[in-house]
Amino acid sequence: MRCRGCDYELWSMKPGACPECGRLWRFDEFRFRPLAAQFLCPHCDHPYAGTDEQGLPTPRAFICVNCTAPIDLDQMRALPAPGTDGSGAMDDEHAWSERARLGYWRAFWRTVGQSMGSPSRIGATLPQRSDFWGAVLFATICGMIGIFFSGSPLFVLFGLASGQMSSGLEYALRAVGTMAGVIVGFVIVGQLLFLLWGCAAHGILRVGGGVRRPIVQSMSTTLYCSGPFIISAVPCCGIYIFPISFVWMAIGMIHAFASLHRISVMRASVAVLTPVLAFVAAIVLAIAGMIWISGNSTWSTNSATFSTQFPPSPTAVASPAQPPADPSAEQSDPQVLPTLGPEAPEK
Ligand SMILES: [Zn+2]
Ligand SMILES: [Zn+2]
Repeated sequence: MRCRGCDYELWSMKPGACPECGRLWRFDEFRFRPLAAQFLCPHCDHPYAGTDEQGLPTPRAFICVNCTAPIDLDQMRALPAPGTDGSGAMDDEHAWSERARLGYWRAFWRTVGQSMGSPSRIGATLPQRSDFWGAVLFATICGMIGIFFSGSPLFVLFGLASGQMSSGLEYALRAVGTMAGVIVGFVIVGQLLFLLWGCAAHGILRVGGGVRRPIVQSMSTTLYCSGPFIISAVPCCGIYIFPISFVWMAIGMIHAFASLHRISVMRASVAVLTPVLAFVAAIVLAIAGMIWISGNSTWSTNSATFSTQFPPSPTAVASPAQPPADPSAEQSDPQVLPTLGPEAPEK
């Protein structure tokens, strides 16, 4: 059990201000594994097991069975359950930050599960000293799995369709090279867009009334919310599942930002969705602008051809006469042959 502000160890302390950083803490902001912690009566140190789904004693206020004094949870001290050292007691660790201890495989899938199932816990448990590159690594693995499995059958098909391979080895190398390039490209571009998104959402929150955590943690949180892109890993269907993943990620980001900065879901929604809407609006405007410009230019070229064709009406009449020009070309062929003919006898 560690302080959310500075990672200070809080076992056997009463709730209140952290001695290291002064941050106020309470038990109900943590999640213990059931029965992983015991809570001591403040008067007689009689232990009570944490039995509810949050790993806390229930009810929160009761009469001590040992000393009959009234107890409130916020007066108690917590200790790891007998025979344990408390290292596995917490259910709310940020799994990816604990990947060295948990192992990469377990930490990765646990973080994906949080990202998809309970994104608010990603924001709530993100350590103060979060490693940004760890978040980048997590999002990179998610993106690579999603793009690799959704795209690999397409690469094989496109590779077969393009054909012209001299050997199987060359074909395989080309397919692998293309695939690696596409995956890396997509992952880099995707993450840059995600980071822009996170920065924009953070900026909007900042303008609209302050943020609780630095921008780098908003960026990390955004990357940790990319877990839903794992479901794009369905072969061939990834491109169709992609929008679902995107909406899923946006909803996850709203809840993660709400818990990270301790704001309402409403405010988080405004911060998270505004950049997306602005992006969509910019694209629509750009497309509309391109259509307008191209329509304008074709109209102007049309008018230009009209203006050139209109005054000399004989040329306009001559242009329908162009199709009969083909027979004249055919006629020229026989004319070519006779010219060739005399050259041959000259020899
Ligand atoms: Zn602290
Ligand atoms: Zn007692």
